[in-house]
This record gives sequence, C-alpha cells and structure tokens, in this order.
Amino acid sequence: MNTDNPGVPPLPEMAHKGPFECPFCYMIISATTTKAWKIHVLSDLRPYICLHPDCETPEQDYARRHEWIQHFKEYHWRTWTCPYGCEYPVPLESARSMEQHLRSSHKQSPVEAQALLTGQPKASDDRVQCPICQEWLNGLKSYGKHLGRHQVELALSHCRHWIMTKITMMHKPITLTTLRSLQKMSPF
Ligand SMILES: [Zn+2]
Ligand SMILES: [Zn+2]
Ligand SMILES: [Zn+2]
Ligand SMILES: [Zn+2]
Repeated sequence: MNTDNPGVPPLPEMAHKGPFECPFCYMIISATTTKAWKIHVLSDLRPYICLHPDCETPEQDYARRHEWIQHFKEYHWRTWTCPYGCEYPVPLESARSMEQHLRSSHKQSPVEAQALLTGQPKASDDRVQCPICQEWLNGLKSYGKHLGRHQVELALSHCRHWIMTKITMMHKPITLTTLRSLQKMSPF
C-alpha cells in the first residue's frame, strides 16, 4: 500500500483486467493506477465539507478540494468592518457576527443589515488556524492542502473497514449475513 496515503484502499485486483464495477457507486469504471483509483474513491466519498463555524451550508459536501476551497474563499475568506466606523480589536470574521453587531448596536433591520454584508476579501497569505489540530497556516492554499488532508483521512478511516470488507468480498461469494452487516455499516 502507498505509504503517502495511508488511508486509501488498495486498487482491486480485477482493475488490471480492464473496466470493472466500482464496489461503492456500482458504476463500471476503468482505473488502472492507484492514483486514478484514489481519485475515483474520493469522488464517491465526497470527503470535503466546510468547517467554518458560521457556515450557512454546513451539510454541503464536495468531491474535489478546489470546489470546497472555492466556497470557502467566496464566503469565509473575508473580513467585515462596520460601515459606521466602529473599531474592533480584530476584524469580524463572519457575516453573521457583523449582522448581529449592526442589529444590536445600530438598530438596523435584518434587511438593511443584509445589504451591508459583503465584506472585504482577505489577503491570500493571511494566517488561519486549522480547526482540527489548531496549527497555524499561511494562506488559503496551505489551509486547503492541510485541512483537505485531514478530511480525506477522516473520510477514509471512517469507512475503511467497510471498504476493506467490500474489496475482499469482490473475490468471494457473498452470504446473506455478511450482506446485511455490510448494509448496516455503509456510510453512504
Ligand atoms: Zn465508484
Ligand atoms: Zn462554508
Ligand atoms: Zn458599528
Ligand atoms: Zn490540522
């Protein structure tokens, strides 16, 4: 197994004989290298989710890292300063905190506050903390790489047992009992 990607399941043996049925999505796919197989498994697992505490779409999952980072850049890689010139020790990091500030300190209605909420983009090399291991990272790009790796590892370890059992079973006849227990374990 590739030690760079400890969580990626091995390429099924039958992959070398040509297109085969993927045990996760049941599509006929052709993946002859571990790399292609990993990309396919990840697109089935959709391991990326937005971990920003004020995310409005936290249940949205993403198959590709760049889609998830694009979302993060658009909605969270911003700071908000008060249009009435209030000073903060640090800029507010979410539209929601700014909305609360506008409503409580400036008596804005929700609709008025909404109009003032676009924020300003952060510099691409601003420091940001990993929400999983608390390490500080320089810029959005390292954030995506670093946190993306955590998420892939988590997604794969979460369903690793399930994946391994499935791959082993592709070479064996299946019994009703194992089928039932597999269905219970399925993360999909
Ligand atoms: Zn698949
Ligand atoms: Zn988000
Ligand atoms: Zn203010
Ligand atoms: Zn981390």
